[in-house]
Amino acid sequence: MNSSTAVGRRSGRSCYHFGTVFDKGEARANSMKVPVWNPAVEFLEREALERLQLANLRKTVAWALKTPFYRRRLAEVGLHRPEDIASLRDLRDIPYTTKEDLRESYPRGLLAVDLEQVVRLHTSSGTTGMPTVIHHTQADLDAWTELVARCIVATGASRRDVFQNMTNYGLFTGGLGLHYGAERVGMLVIPASSGNTSRQVQLMRHFQTSVVHATPSYLLHLHSALMDEDTDTSPPSLRKAFIGAEPHSEETRRKIETLFEIEAYNSYGLSEMNGPGVAFECLYKTGLHLWEDAYLLEVIDPDSLRPCAEEETGEIVLTTLQRQATPLLRYRTRDLSHLVGGHCPCGRSHRRLARIKGRSDDMLIVNGVNVFPSQIEEALMKAPEVGTNYLIQVEKRGALDRLAVKTEVHAALFAGDARVLSDLRERIAERIRAAVLVKPSIELHEPGSLPVSEGKARRVLDLRPAF
Ligand code: ADP
Ligand code: ZN
Repeated sequence: MNSSTAVGRRSGRSCYHFGTVFDKGEARANSMKVPVWNPAVEFLEREALERLQLANLRKTVAWALKTPFYRRRLAEVGLHRPEDIASLRDLRDIPYTTKEDLRESYPRGLLAVDLEQVVRLHTSSGTTGMPTVIHHTQADLDAWTELVARCIVATGASRRDVFQNMTNYGLFTGGLGLHYGAERVGMLVIPASSGNTSRQVQLMRHFQTSVVHATPSYLLHLHSALMDEDTDTSPPSLRKAFIGAEPHSEETRRKIETLFEIEAYNSYGLSEMNGPGVAFECLYKTGLHLWEDAYLLEVIDPDSLRPCAEEETGEIVLTTLQRQATPLLRYRTRDLSHLVGGHCPCGRSHRRLARIKGRSDDMLIVNGVNVFPSQIEEALMKAPEVGTNYLIQVEKRGALDRLAVKTEVHAALFAGDARVLSDLRERIAERIRAAVLVKPSIELHEPGSLPVSEGKARRVLDLRPAF
């Protein structure tokens, strides 16, 4: 379908291609060239992609039937053999798998292979309770690495880059996931892990880091740290950042891009689906391409469970299509997003998700009004005076809920007229009220005074008593 030329720096496995782009899936070559890792799969025509999905779904059901959990679950709907799946539509007969199912199957109720075949396990970071565990065979890790390599190359990063991975290297999947993908691409990888900001800065300067991977909140913190240095500039070698692991707004991305003078790409993943490498933005940033040969994507209304239309926000549901050790069928991620319509100018056939709005379980109900922290962030970050860190706090005052937003603002504001600060407080409060229909009280803080997280930021403090 597309012509490609390998331009890899090393011989052996072809590793870096420029695919010719086709507009809207038609055989009309676009004059632009986009970097591609695996053109054979990334440009696969819809029909061929669905044939591959069906074959992989049957394999996945066969693996799932080896686990006590799915044997029982699938028998309840009369599914006993992989051949019982005649088409992709039959997926709808399979029951959903939830985070609770994973927790109840902890530690090995979902293991589909002999323990000797397992080479690694990862757990989630446990943001919303007890962590879940995912086991991997070597083939699983290889497949995961391939997906991450595709993501990296789709952003235009290449083996010529120096990649500093600023996410945690432990059980959290962000560290090792990106690490192996970047090595597969052939980048020079600095496994810096998270935290130790002065060391991060030193590494960036000494080794001319050109691409970083971090949570958006950590990158904003890192920028403040760079500004505190005498040099007062971000490293000139830096050109790209992969940001993910936590919800963030378009305004936050723009802030990162402007502060560092770089391009920032959204990376989505969850440990239940390996980790990073599930969906990623390409050079065009028109949504996150989800690798549909590896994951079957559904978006559903979380209440009625009916499938959502394109552009309609709902819960992302994913089925693994390549994972042997821990197959997951129709896993309800609780993450909210929608499918982006139309075609991406890059020409990839894999559909795109809009940026994640948050989790269905992070929604706050404040005096009966549904409020997503991401809406507050978006409104907040539109104010140019706002700095890089903030905290949302909800508490009970008598019968009513009280919403407070604490945010850092530029230091110079504290030296001037007190009226400037009170005007700013009012402006921010109004902006948030317009976005979420609840007017918060606003506290303005000096840079560096709110608590900083080195991994996923904890932005919401709900101090209301639990009933
Ligand atoms: P935990 O569920 O304990 O936080 P994970 O480390 O597996 O454990 O985190 C995955 C979750 O992080 C996703 O389900 C999603 O809620 C969030 N997440 C990951 N990447 C992004 C992103 N790019 N934008 C928004 N949220 C994200
Ligand atoms: Zn694209």
